[in-house]
This record gives sequence, C-alpha cells and structure tokens, in this order.
Amino acid sequence: MALVVLEGMRFHAFHGVHPEEQVLGTAYVVNVEVQTGIAEAAKTDSIEQATVNYETVFQICMAEMAQPRKLLETVVTNIIKRMKRQFPQMKGIKVQVRKLNPPISTRMRAMKNTADYQPIGGSAEAAWVQDEGNFESKCPRCKTSFLCYADETCWCKELNNLHPATQETLKRQFGTTCLCPKCLKLYAG
Ligand SMILES: [Zn+2]
Ligand SMILES: [Zn+2]
Repeated sequence: MALVVLEGMRFHAFHGVHPEEQVLGTAYVVNVEVQTGIAEAAKTDSIEQATVNYETVFQICMAEMAQPRKLLETVVTNIIKRMKRQFPQMKGIKVQVRKLNPPISTRMRAMKNTADYQPIGGSAEAAWVQDEGNFESKCPRCKTSFLCYADETCWCKELNNLHPATQETLKRQFGTTCLCPKCLKLYAG
C-alpha cells in the first residue's frame, strides 16, 4: 500500500455563515491523502499509469473550493465524492479542509448558561473538518479483496448491463449488487 498526498493546498474561498466570510472570503488550506497501489506507475514512470495524479487532485479541490458553502462538512464530502468519480482505484482517502483565522463571534448567543460570562479577547488559528473513507472490501461470493465505493460512484455501477432481475437475485443472495469484478462479470454475462 502506498500513499499519494497533496498537502498545504492554499485557496481563498467564500465558505461560511458569517457575512464577512461570504463577501471578503477567508484563507483555507486543504490536505488530501489517498491510499493506493503505485506499482504500475512506478514500473513505467508514466502519468497514464498513475492511479492518482496530484495535479488532478488539486483541480478537484479548486473546483469545490470555488463553490461557496455554509459548512466545511459539505466541502469535504463533495471533494471526496469528486475524487471517487475521478479515480476508480483508491483504497482509501482522507480529506481535511482548514479555515484559517476563522471569524468567531464573542457574543454568546449559542452557548447555554451565560450567567457567569465575562467577555475577554480571543481568537482561533484554524477550524477544520476531516473525513475519510476506506474502500477495501471482501467479495461476498468468492471472498477475495476488491475495491467498492459503496455508492453511485462505484465502478460496478458502470456495468449497467445487469438485468433488474439479476440485481434482485444478487441483493437477495449477497445483500448487495457489488461483487468483485470477476464475479460480477459472471452475472453481467
Ligand atoms: Zn468475487
Ligand atoms: Zn461497488
């Protein structure tokens, strides 16, 4: 297993619920870590064989950072979704979006029990959200390991010649329509 990492990507973006964040924007740092196999890419030293190339990772992050969202959770989730659509070979992924010097209101409207509240100055260096996914799975039919994204971005959804009746059979028999490529080909016929 190998890691492909792009860290410290910097963007100026307009996420957040505060008006100043939406108008003036804030500085962000994005980190992406992909678990993958790199044997083929290293053997041929070719970009076509690279399962995950970091220039594309950067562009995916840039595209999502350019869409203003209220929550960092939404940004992180959408980056992961785009990564899954782009790269069918990821064993796992970790994405972190950091908002630098987030504006924080010192008016205590959200906090409960403010009776003993005495305001002082304060700030935070960063607010960040991170999520991760692990896509290694065991084929319920033959028990070999394979990759499944377990949603509409999975490669298996492109094998769309599965008859609806076959899909029903698979669901009944294995609880899922996502088997390893070898087994699924048997059913796709
Ligand atoms: Zn199988
Ligand atoms: Zn799948």
